[in-house]
This record gives sequence, structure tokens and C-alpha cells, in this order.
Amino acid sequence: MSASIIDGKALALTLRDTITQEIQTLPRTRGITPGLAAVLVGDDPASAVYVKNKKLACEKAGIYPQEHRLPASTTQENLLRLIVQLNADSRIHGILVQLPLPSHIDTKVILQAVSPEKDVDGFHPVNVGRLVEGDPVFVPCTPKGVIHMIDSTGEAIAGKRAVVIGRSNIVGKPVAMLLLHRHATVTICHSRTKDLPGVAREADIVVAAIGKAHFVTSDMVKKGAMVIDVGINRLADGKLTGDVDFDAVKEEAGWITPVPGGVGPMTIAMLLQNTLESAKRMAKK
Ligand code: NAD
Repeated sequence: MSASIIDGKALALTLRDTITQEIQTLPRTRGITPGLAAVLVGDDPASAVYVKNKKLACEKAGIYPQEHRLPASTTQENLLRLIVQLNADSRIHGILVQLPLPSHIDTKVILQAVSPEKDVDGFHPVNVGRLVEGDPVFVPCTPKGVIHMIDSTGEAIAGKRAVVIGRSNIVGKPVAMLLLHRHATVTICHSRTKDLPGVAREADIVVAAIGKAHFVTSDMVKKGAMVIDVGINRLADGKLTGDVDFDAVKEEAGWITPVPGGVGPMTIAMLLQNTLESAKRMAKK
């Protein structure tokens, strides 16, 4: 039997509706309108699309959007100056710096300059530490979306064997940490893992965050397992596809996420949610 599809698009729409409704009440109940600043350096077309989509989503939800586009030649000092300015701007409750940054800019320095109180991406070391401790303030958007998708199935995470393929700071590591906090037994696989297919086959939950089209094949998935595909890869014909060989794997898996229409829309919904939560926290102060 074919796997049940976890429809990220539909889940994200529901979530965005709830977020929008709450945002509409905030000027009246708390005297605030949440604001998000997106910073884009250079003219990478994929990054420009991501920023445009995030801005549109903010507008639809009633979040005040600011977009800052800087040329690829911008100096690190200029970028830092902008971030300091945004940190101090009371209309802004979330700051996101679209990655990757040009190679002459030190990404670590920039991410550390963002106030941890406005770090809606959850990339600041303070927020990474809070996440590792199990007491997060901002959970990174994509990993947060992954957990929401798993929860939407009604399947328990506690006690399950979870295998996360990929160990990046923005997806693999935080997803693994969230699964661990939810009492899964977690293994992280990477490019030097021995017998990765054998490890993946033991998993009740597989999260693929590699960046290689159709990397996860049906022989790597246990019958009935849940497969969450974070990957976004562009094929030669321009189509988007995930890290999972969807057509073959759906015949083995119990649950599976599609690409597009899976984790991607959830990431944007979680960004809106993190901005809303940030605004409410600041209003309390
Ligand atoms: P990354 O390049 O930073 O990390 C990829 C990871 O995959 C690395 O840890 C590496 O060890 C591992 N890897 C690479 N080759 C491997 C191999 N042969 N065997 C095992 N592991 C291997 O990428 P990332 O930022 O974590 O993103 C991963 C994918 O997820 C990309 O396709 C990216 O576009 C996508 N992504 C999607 C969203 C979303 O909203 N859906 C958000 C972020 C990233």
C-alpha cells in the first residue's frame, strides 16, 4: 500500500490562518503590530525568491515587512551597521539575514550581531545553546516545521528510532536535537557514515536534509517508516525535487512528505509564528 502523504501546503495554510487571526487582534489587545526585517545581500536568484516569498507571506498575515537589499560588494561593516540599526528599531521583532552571504563576509560574525531577542531564524549561538538545553526561545523555522508535520500525523515520537541524514547547523543538527527532546533515539548520518542505507533502514522516522536529488531510495527505508524530505533540488529541466526518490519510497513508507508542497511551506509558516511569538514577548516586556 502506498504511503499517506503529509500535506505541508495544507498544514501551512491552516497555521497561517490561525497566525493571521491572532495578528489582527494584537494592535487592539497589546498595542503592537509584529514586524519582520529581511536582509538580502547580493543577487543570488534563489535567495531573492525566498526573500520575496517571505515578504509576501508577512504582508498577507498582517506583519509589517521591511526588505533591505544590499549589493554583493557591501562591506561587512556596512551590513553590521544595518543590523545594529534593526536591533534598535522598535517596529521590528524579527530579523532574518538570508544565507548564503558573499564570501568576503563572515557569516558567523553577522549572525552573532543579530539580537538574540529578534533572532527569528534561531541561528544566534545563544539560541542554539537554549535549544540544546531543551529550553528554546526561537526554534529554527525548518526544523520546527518538520516536528509540526510529524505531530500532524498523530504518531508518537517518543521511543521511536529516528535517523537524520545531514548535519548542517540550520537543519540536520537542530532537527536531531528536537527529536531527542521529544524522546526519540536519534542517529545523525553524514557523508562519512559507514553503511548509511543500513542505518537508515532501522529508522521509524527518516529526515533527509542533504541537498542531493533522490538520495534516499526505497531500499533505505523500513516498511511503514515516516519519511520527511527537507531537500530542495533543481533538476536539469527546471523542476524542483527533494532528497527522496518519492515515487519509489512511497511504496515502502507509511508516511511521506512531497517536494514541492512539503517542508518548504511549513518553513515560511514557522517564520511567521516565530515573528508573532517574538512580538508578543517584547510587548510583555
Ligand atoms: P548543507 O549543505 O549545509 O548540509 C548537507 C548535509 O548533508 C551535510 O551535513 C552533509 O554531511 C550531508 N551530506 C552531503 N552529502 C552526503 C552524502 N553523500 N551522504 C550523507 N550525507 C551527506 O545543506 P542544508 O542547508 O542542511 O540543506 C539540505 C537540503 O535542504 C538542501 O537541499 C536545501 O536546499 C534544503 N533546505 C530546505 C529548506 C526548506 O524550507 N524546505 C530549508 C533549508 C534547507
